[in-house]
Amino acid sequence: MKTLVLNCGSSSIKYQFYQGEEVLAKGLAEQIGEGAGHLVYQTQGADLQRQNPLKDHHQALEEILALLVDPKVGVIKDRKDLDCVGHRVVHGGERFKQPVAIDSVVLQAIRACIPLAPLHNPANIEGIETAMVVFPRAKQIAVFDTAFHQSIPERAYRYALPEDHYKKLGVRRYGFHGTSHKYVAHRAAEFLGKPLEALKLITLHLGNGSSMAAIDRGQCIDTSMGMTPLEGLVMGTRCGDLDPAIPLFLSTHLGLDMKEVDQLLNKKAGFKGMTGHNDLRTIEAEYGEGNEAAIRALDLAAYRIKKYIGAYWAALGGLDALVFTAGIGENSVLTRKLALEGLEGLGIHLDPKLNAKPKGPAISTKASPVSVLVVPTNEELQIVREVGSLTKITL
Ligand code: ADP
Repeated sequence: MKTLVLNCGSSSIKYQFYQGEEVLAKGLAEQIGEGAGHLVYQTQGADLQRQNPLKDHHQALEEILALLVDPKVGVIKDRKDLDCVGHRVVHGGERFKQPVAIDSVVLQAIRACIPLAPLHNPANIEGIETAMVVFPRAKQIAVFDTAFHQSIPERAYRYALPEDHYKKLGVRRYGFHGTSHKYVAHRAAEFLGKPLEALKLITLHLGNGSSMAAIDRGQCIDTSMGMTPLEGLVMGTRCGDLDPAIPLFLSTHLGLDMKEVDQLLNKKAGFKGMTGHNDLRTIEAEYGEGNEAAIRALDLAAYRIKKYIGAYWAALGGLDALVFTAGIGENSVLTRKLALEGLEGLGIHLDPKLNAKPKGPAISTKASPVSVLVVPTNEELQIVREVGSLTKITL
Protein backbone atom coordinates (compact mmCIF):
# COMPACT_ATOMS: atom_id res chain seq x y z
CA MET A 1 0.00 0.00 0.00
CA LYS A 2 1.30 3.49 -0.92
CA THR A 3 0.46 6.19 1.60
CA LEU A 4 1.24 9.89 1.67
CA VAL A 5 1.28 11.29 5.21
CA LEU A 6 0.51 15.01 5.41
CA ASN A 7 0.92 17.40 8.32
CA CYS A 8 -0.45 20.76 7.18
CA GLY A 9 0.13 24.00 9.02
CA SER A 10 -1.15 27.44 8.03
CA SER A 11 1.94 28.15 5.90
CA SER A 12 3.61 24.74 5.67
CA ILE A 13 3.13 21.13 4.55
CA LYS A 14 5.31 18.35 5.99
CA TYR A 15 5.03 15.11 4.01
CA GLN A 16 6.32 11.53 3.95
CA PHE A 17 5.57 9.04 1.20
CA TYR A 18 5.44 5.39 2.31
CA GLN A 19 5.36 2.08 0.54
CA GLY A 20 4.17 -0.27 3.26
CA GLU A 21 6.21 0.88 6.27
CA GLU A 22 9.19 2.12 4.25
CA VAL A 23 9.71 5.84 3.60
CA LEU A 24 10.42 6.39 -0.12
CA ALA A 25 10.35 10.20 -0.10
CA LYS A 26 9.91 13.00 2.41
CA GLY A 27 10.23 16.73 2.80
CA LEU A 28 8.38 19.95 3.41
CA ALA A 29 6.99 23.07 1.80
CA GLU A 30 7.30 26.27 3.83
CA GLN A 31 6.37 29.95 3.56
CA ILE A 32 3.20 29.09 1.64
CA GLY A 33 1.15 32.21 0.87
CA GLU A 34 3.86 34.47 2.28
CA GLY A 35 5.17 35.76 -1.04
CA ALA A 36 8.08 33.31 -0.83
CA GLY A 37 8.40 29.53 -0.79
CA HIS A 38 10.84 26.80 0.18
CA LEU A 39 10.40 23.22 -0.96
CA VAL A 40 12.46 20.26 0.26
CA TYR A 41 12.30 16.82 -1.36
CA GLN A 42 14.46 13.89 -0.24
CA THR A 43 14.69 10.28 -1.41
CA GLN A 44 17.48 7.74 -1.08
CA GLY A 45 19.10 9.16 -4.23
CA ALA A 46 17.95 12.79 -4.26
CA ASP A 47 18.12 15.80 -1.94
CA LEU A 48 16.46 18.80 -3.60
CA GLN A 49 15.86 22.30 -2.24
CA ARG A 50 13.89 24.89 -4.19
CA GLN A 51 13.12 28.53 -3.53
CA ASN A 52 10.12 29.76 -5.47
CA PRO A 53 6.92 31.47 -4.36
CA LEU A 54 4.19 29.06 -3.26
CA LYS A 55 0.86 30.83 -3.68
CA ASP A 56 -1.27 28.41 -1.70
CA HIS A 57 -1.48 24.83 -0.38
CA HIS A 58 -2.80 23.64 -3.74
CA GLN A 59 0.27 24.85 -5.62
CA ALA A 60 2.58 23.42 -2.94
CA LEU A 61 0.93 19.98 -3.10
CA GLU A 62 0.97 20.01 -6.93
CA GLU A 63 4.73 20.72 -6.81
CA ILE A 64 5.29 17.90 -4.33
CA LEU A 65 3.26 15.60 -6.59
CA ALA A 66 5.29 16.68 -9.64
CA LEU A 67 8.45 15.54 -7.83
CA LEU A 68 6.86 12.27 -6.66
CA VAL A 69 6.06 11.35 -10.30
CA ASP A 70 9.18 12.91 -11.85
CA PRO A 71 10.90 10.36 -14.15
CA LYS A 72 14.34 11.15 -12.64
CA VAL A 73 13.76 11.66 -8.92
CA GLY A 74 10.21 10.37 -8.48
CA VAL A 75 9.06 7.25 -6.62
CA ILE A 76 5.76 6.57 -8.47
CA LYS A 77 4.72 6.68 -12.12
CA ASP A 78 1.37 8.35 -11.77
CA ARG A 79 -0.73 10.10 -9.13
CA LYS A 80 -3.19 7.21 -9.48
CA ASP A 81 -0.57 4.94 -7.87
CA LEU A 82 -1.24 6.54 -4.49
CA ASP A 83 -3.69 4.51 -2.38
CA CYS A 84 -4.22 6.66 0.71
CA VAL A 85 -3.48 10.06 2.14
CA GLY A 86 -3.15 10.05 5.94
CA HIS A 87 -3.83 13.49 7.43
CA ARG A 88 -2.60 14.50 10.84
CA VAL A 89 -5.53 16.40 12.37
CA VAL A 90 -4.89 18.14 15.68
CA HIS A 91 -8.38 18.21 17.21
CA GLY A 92 -11.11 15.61 16.91
CA GLY A 93 -13.06 16.75 19.98
CA GLU A 94 -15.08 14.00 21.67
CA ARG A 95 -16.39 12.72 18.37
CA PHE A 96 -13.27 10.98 17.04
CA LYS A 97 -11.80 8.21 19.17
CA GLN A 98 -10.28 6.41 16.14
CA PRO A 99 -8.93 7.33 12.72
CA VAL A 100 -11.67 7.83 10.17
CA ALA A 101 -12.19 7.81 6.39
CA ILE A 102 -13.03 11.38 5.40
CA ASP A 103 -16.33 12.28 3.75
CA SER A 104 -18.38 15.47 3.81
CA VAL A 105 -19.92 14.60 7.21
CA VAL A 106 -16.50 13.97 8.76
CA LEU A 107 -15.13 17.15 7.24
CA GLN A 108 -18.02 19.08 8.76
CA ALA A 109 -17.31 17.48 12.16
CA ILE A 110 -13.61 18.47 11.93
CA ARG A 111 -14.78 21.96 11.06
CA ALA A 112 -16.99 21.96 14.14
CA CYS A 113 -13.83 21.44 16.26
CA ILE A 114 -12.26 24.71 15.00
CA PRO A 115 -13.23 26.66 18.17
CA LEU A 116 -11.18 24.10 20.16
CA ALA A 117 -8.10 24.40 17.90
CA PRO A 118 -8.43 27.71 16.05
CA LEU A 119 -4.78 27.76 14.95
CA HIS A 120 -4.52 24.15 13.77
CA ASN A 121 -7.78 22.66 12.49
CA PRO A 122 -8.33 25.26 9.71
CA ALA A 123 -4.91 24.40 8.23
CA ASN A 124 -5.62 20.66 8.57
CA ILE A 125 -8.94 21.15 6.73
CA GLU A 126 -7.19 23.12 4.01
CA GLY A 127 -4.77 20.20 3.57
CA ILE A 128 -7.62 17.69 3.35
CA GLU A 129 -9.59 19.71 0.81
CA THR A 130 -6.50 20.27 -1.30
CA ALA A 131 -5.49 16.60 -1.20
CA MET A 132 -9.01 15.61 -2.27
CA VAL A 133 -8.55 17.71 -5.42
CA VAL A 134 -4.94 16.72 -6.15
CA PHE A 135 -5.43 12.99 -5.36
CA PRO A 136 -9.11 12.39 -6.18
CA ARG A 137 -8.75 8.59 -6.33
CA ALA A 138 -6.86 8.15 -3.05
CA LYS A 139 -8.67 7.32 0.17
CA GLN A 140 -8.38 10.29 2.56
CA ILE A 141 -8.02 9.36 6.21
CA ALA A 142 -7.81 11.57 9.28
CA VAL A 143 -5.71 10.57 12.29
CA PHE A 144 -6.34 12.75 15.34
CA ASP A 145 -3.82 13.97 17.93
CA THR A 146 -6.56 13.86 20.54
CA ALA A 147 -7.98 10.38 19.78
CA PHE A 148 -5.66 8.28 21.98
CA HIS A 149 -6.69 10.30 25.04
CA GLN A 150 -10.42 9.69 24.58
CA SER A 151 -10.22 6.71 26.96
CA ILE A 152 -9.41 9.04 29.89
CA PRO A 153 -12.08 8.68 32.60
CA GLU A 154 -14.36 11.54 33.50
CA ARG A 155 -12.68 12.30 36.82
CA ALA A 156 -9.47 13.06 34.91
CA TYR A 157 -10.92 14.91 31.93
CA ARG A 158 -13.45 17.17 33.69
CA TYR A 159 -12.57 20.49 35.29
CA ALA A 160 -14.38 21.68 38.42
CA LEU A 161 -16.57 24.14 36.53
CA PRO A 162 -20.34 24.47 36.09
CA GLU A 163 -21.88 21.61 34.10
CA ASP A 164 -22.96 23.86 31.21
CA HIS A 165 -19.38 24.84 30.43
CA TYR A 166 -18.67 21.22 29.58
CA LYS A 167 -22.01 20.40 27.95
CA LYS A 168 -22.44 23.56 25.87
CA LEU A 169 -18.87 24.73 25.28
CA GLY A 170 -16.90 21.48 25.42
CA VAL A 171 -14.64 22.70 28.24
CA ARG A 172 -12.75 19.54 29.31
CA ARG A 173 -9.29 17.96 29.03
CA TYR A 174 -8.61 16.58 25.53
CA GLY A 175 -4.83 16.12 25.51
CA PHE A 176 -2.51 16.16 22.49
CA HIS A 177 0.52 14.30 21.04
CA GLY A 178 -1.71 11.18 21.19
CA THR A 179 -0.18 9.60 18.08
CA SER A 180 3.30 9.88 19.57
CA HIS A 181 2.28 8.55 23.02
CA LYS A 182 0.59 5.59 21.37
CA TYR A 183 3.55 4.82 19.09
CA VAL A 184 6.18 4.84 21.85
CA ALA A 185 3.93 2.82 24.17
CA HIS A 186 3.75 0.06 21.54
CA ARG A 187 7.51 0.25 20.92
CA ALA A 188 8.19 0.05 24.66
CA ALA A 189 6.01 -3.07 24.97
CA GLU A 190 7.87 -4.66 22.04
CA PHE A 191 11.20 -3.91 23.69
CA LEU A 192 10.07 -5.24 27.07
CA GLY A 193 8.74 -8.39 25.35
CA LYS A 194 5.33 -8.06 27.02
CA PRO A 195 1.88 -7.31 25.65
CA LEU A 196 0.91 -3.66 26.04
CA GLU A 197 -2.26 -4.96 27.76
CA ALA A 198 -0.07 -6.22 30.64
CA LEU A 199 1.84 -2.97 31.27
CA LYS A 200 1.50 0.24 33.27
CA LEU A 201 3.42 2.97 31.47
CA ILE A 202 4.17 6.66 31.75
CA THR A 203 5.19 8.19 28.41
CA LEU A 204 7.00 11.54 28.29
CA HIS A 205 6.89 13.41 24.97
CA LEU A 206 9.34 16.26 25.64
CA GLY A 207 9.90 18.55 22.64
CA ASN A 208 9.10 22.19 21.95
CA GLY A 209 5.66 21.23 23.16
CA SER A 210 5.73 18.66 25.97
CA SER A 211 3.20 16.30 27.49
CA MET A 212 3.04 13.15 29.60
CA ALA A 213 0.52 10.31 29.53
CA ALA A 214 -0.43 7.59 32.02
CA ILE A 215 -1.23 4.40 30.09
CA ASP A 216 -2.90 1.52 31.89
CA ARG A 217 -2.77 -1.72 29.91
CA GLY A 218 -2.92 0.10 26.57
CA GLN A 219 -5.59 2.64 27.62
CA CYS A 220 -4.62 6.24 28.28
CA ILE A 221 -6.04 7.22 31.68
CA ASP A 222 -4.57 10.72 32.08
CA THR A 223 -2.47 13.27 30.25
CA SER A 224 -0.86 16.56 31.19
CA MET A 225 -2.08 18.82 28.36
CA GLY A 226 -5.63 19.99 28.85
CA MET A 227 -8.37 21.63 26.85
CA THR A 228 -5.49 23.33 25.02
CA PRO A 229 -1.77 22.48 24.80
CA LEU A 230 -0.97 25.16 27.40
CA GLU A 231 -1.53 23.02 30.50
CA GLY A 232 1.01 20.75 32.17
CA LEU A 233 4.78 20.74 31.76
CA VAL A 234 7.15 23.66 31.22
CA MET A 235 7.66 23.99 27.44
CA GLY A 236 9.73 25.95 24.92
CA THR A 237 7.47 29.01 25.03
CA ARG A 238 4.44 27.83 27.09
CA CYS A 239 4.18 28.14 30.86
CA GLY A 240 2.32 24.89 31.57
CA ASP A 241 0.45 24.65 34.90
CA LEU A 242 -0.43 27.99 36.44
CA ASP A 243 -2.70 29.33 39.16
CA PRO A 244 -5.84 30.13 37.11
CA ALA A 245 -6.05 33.54 38.79
CA ILE A 246 -2.71 34.67 37.31
CA PRO A 247 -4.04 35.60 33.82
CA LEU A 248 -6.54 38.01 35.38
CA PHE A 249 -3.84 39.41 37.68
CA LEU A 250 -1.49 39.98 34.70
CA SER A 251 -4.28 41.55 32.68
CA THR A 252 -5.09 43.98 35.50
CA HIS A 253 -1.54 44.87 36.46
CA LEU A 254 0.09 44.97 33.01
CA GLY A 255 -2.91 46.51 31.24
CA LEU A 256 -3.09 43.61 28.77
CA ASP A 257 -6.25 42.41 27.07
CA MET A 258 -7.06 38.68 27.16
CA LYS A 259 -5.56 38.05 23.70
CA GLU A 260 -2.28 39.60 24.82
CA VAL A 261 -2.27 37.50 27.99
CA ASP A 262 -2.91 34.41 25.85
CA GLN A 263 0.07 35.36 23.63
CA LEU A 264 2.24 35.90 26.69
CA LEU A 265 1.45 32.50 28.21
CA ASN A 266 1.76 30.61 24.90
CA LYS A 267 4.65 32.42 23.19
CA LYS A 268 6.67 34.34 25.76
CA ALA A 269 6.63 32.04 28.78
CA GLY A 270 8.16 28.61 29.55
CA PHE A 271 11.91 28.32 28.85
CA LYS A 272 11.76 31.39 26.62
CA GLY A 273 10.25 33.53 29.36
CA MET A 274 12.57 32.26 32.06
CA THR A 275 15.85 32.33 30.14
CA GLY A 276 15.38 34.24 26.87
CA HIS A 277 15.87 31.01 24.87
CA ASN A 278 13.51 28.25 23.84
CA ASP A 279 16.17 25.87 22.49
CA LEU A 280 17.13 23.55 25.34
CA ARG A 281 20.64 23.05 23.95
CA THR A 282 21.42 26.75 24.52
CA ILE A 283 19.94 26.60 28.03
CA GLU A 284 21.96 23.49 28.87
CA ALA A 285 25.15 25.21 27.70
CA GLU A 286 24.35 28.16 29.99
CA TYR A 287 23.51 25.74 32.84
CA GLY A 288 27.02 24.30 32.41
CA GLU A 289 28.46 27.83 32.78
CA GLY A 290 26.58 28.33 36.03
CA ASN A 291 23.98 30.76 34.62
CA GLU A 292 21.36 31.26 37.34
CA ALA A 293 18.36 31.68 35.04
CA ALA A 294 19.24 28.49 33.15
CA ILE A 295 19.71 26.54 36.40
CA ARG A 296 16.38 27.82 37.75
CA ALA A 297 14.48 26.98 34.55
CA LEU A 298 15.86 23.46 34.17
CA ASP A 299 15.34 22.76 37.85
CA LEU A 300 11.73 23.95 37.70
CA ALA A 301 10.97 22.03 34.49
CA ALA A 302 12.45 18.81 35.89
CA TYR A 303 10.57 19.24 39.19
CA ARG A 304 7.31 19.58 37.24
CA ILE A 305 8.04 16.31 35.40
CA LYS A 306 8.87 14.62 38.71
CA LYS A 307 5.56 15.71 40.25
CA TYR A 308 3.64 14.31 37.28
CA ILE A 309 5.50 11.01 37.56
CA GLY A 310 4.42 10.79 41.20
CA ALA A 311 0.83 11.70 40.32
CA TYR A 312 0.63 9.18 37.48
CA TRP A 313 2.26 6.47 39.58
CA ALA A 314 -0.64 7.02 41.99
CA ALA A 315 -3.25 7.10 39.19
CA LEU A 316 -1.88 3.87 37.71
CA GLY A 317 -1.35 2.15 41.08
CA GLY A 318 2.21 1.18 40.18
CA LEU A 319 4.48 1.36 37.18
CA ASP A 320 6.38 -0.95 34.82
CA ALA A 321 8.18 1.57 32.62
CA LEU A 322 8.84 5.24 31.96
CA VAL A 323 9.31 6.08 28.28
CA PHE A 324 11.14 9.25 27.16
CA THR A 325 10.69 10.55 23.61
CA ALA A 326 10.93 13.62 21.26
CA GLY A 327 13.79 16.14 20.97
CA ILE A 328 14.38 16.69 24.69
CA GLY A 329 13.23 13.27 25.91
CA GLU A 330 15.50 11.47 23.45
CA ASN A 331 18.54 13.72 23.83
CA SER A 332 18.66 15.61 27.11
CA VAL A 333 20.73 13.57 29.56
CA LEU A 334 20.42 16.40 32.08
CA THR A 335 16.60 16.62 31.96
CA ARG A 336 16.26 12.85 32.49
CA LYS A 337 18.77 12.94 35.36
CA LEU A 338 17.19 15.91 37.16
CA ALA A 339 13.63 14.59 36.68
CA LEU A 340 14.36 11.09 38.00
CA GLU A 341 16.67 12.02 40.91
CA GLY A 342 15.17 10.91 44.21
CA LEU A 343 12.51 8.62 42.72
CA GLU A 344 14.20 5.42 43.91
CA GLY A 345 11.37 5.02 46.45
CA LEU A 346 9.02 4.44 43.50
CA GLY A 347 11.35 1.77 42.11
CA ILE A 348 12.94 4.08 39.52
CA HIS A 349 16.72 3.64 39.35
CA LEU A 350 18.48 5.46 36.52
CA ASP A 351 21.86 4.06 35.40
CA PRO A 352 24.01 7.23 35.08
CA LYS A 353 26.33 5.67 32.49
CA LEU A 354 23.51 4.38 30.29
CA ASN A 355 21.67 7.68 30.67
CA ALA A 356 24.76 9.55 29.44
CA LYS A 357 25.36 7.09 26.58
CA PRO A 358 22.40 4.76 25.91
CA LYS A 359 23.34 1.40 24.35
CA GLY A 360 19.71 0.61 23.56
CA PRO A 361 16.33 1.78 24.78
CA ALA A 362 16.95 0.89 28.48
CA ILE A 363 18.74 3.48 30.63
CA SER A 364 17.74 2.09 34.07
CA THR A 365 19.88 -0.25 36.16
CA LYS A 366 19.39 -4.01 35.68
CA ALA A 367 17.85 -4.28 39.15
CA SER A 368 15.47 -1.33 38.73
CA PRO A 369 11.86 -2.51 39.29
CA VAL A 370 10.72 0.19 36.83
CA SER A 371 12.37 0.22 33.39
CA VAL A 372 13.39 3.61 32.07
CA LEU A 373 13.45 3.68 28.27
CA VAL A 374 14.42 6.14 25.54
CA VAL A 375 12.35 5.46 22.42
CA PRO A 376 12.52 7.71 19.34
CA THR A 377 9.04 8.74 18.28
CA ASN A 378 7.70 8.30 14.75
CA GLU A 379 4.28 9.90 14.37
CA GLU A 380 4.24 9.46 10.58
CA LEU A 381 4.79 5.71 10.85
CA GLN A 382 2.02 5.50 13.46
CA ILE A 383 -0.29 7.36 11.05
CA VAL A 384 0.60 4.87 8.29
CA ARG A 385 -0.23 2.01 10.67
CA GLU A 386 -3.54 3.58 11.65
CA VAL A 387 -4.39 4.16 7.98
CA GLY A 388 -3.46 0.54 7.26
CA SER A 389 -5.61 -0.90 10.03
CA LEU A 390 -8.58 1.24 9.00
CA THR A 391 -8.38 0.52 5.26
CA LYS A 392 -8.16 -3.23 5.94
CA ILE A 393 -11.58 -2.93 7.49
CA THR A 394 -13.23 -0.48 5.14
CA LEU A 395 -11.67 -1.08 1.68
P1 ADP B 1 8.89 19.74 18.13
O1 ADP B 1 7.91 19.77 19.26
O2 ADP B 1 9.03 21.05 17.43
O3 ADP B 1 8.75 18.55 17.20
P2 ADP B 1 11.33 18.43 18.98
O4 ADP B 1 10.72 17.15 19.41
O5 ADP B 1 12.18 18.45 17.75
O6 ADP B 1 10.26 19.59 18.89
O7 ADP B 1 12.20 18.98 20.21
C1 ADP B 1 12.86 20.21 20.15
C2 ADP B 1 13.62 20.42 21.46
O8 ADP B 1 14.56 19.36 21.63
C3 ADP B 1 14.39 21.72 21.49
O9 ADP B 1 14.23 22.36 22.75
C4 ADP B 1 15.83 21.25 21.37
O10 ADP B 1 16.70 22.12 22.01
C5 ADP B 1 15.78 19.91 22.08
N1 ADP B 1 16.95 19.10 21.72
C6 ADP B 1 17.24 18.56 20.51
N2 ADP B 1 18.44 17.93 20.56
C7 ADP B 1 18.91 18.07 21.83
C8 ADP B 1 20.09 17.66 22.52
N3 ADP B 1 21.04 16.96 21.91
N4 ADP B 1 20.19 17.97 23.82
C9 ADP B 1 19.25 18.68 24.46
N5 ADP B 1 18.11 19.11 23.87
C10 ADP B 1 17.95 18.82 22.57
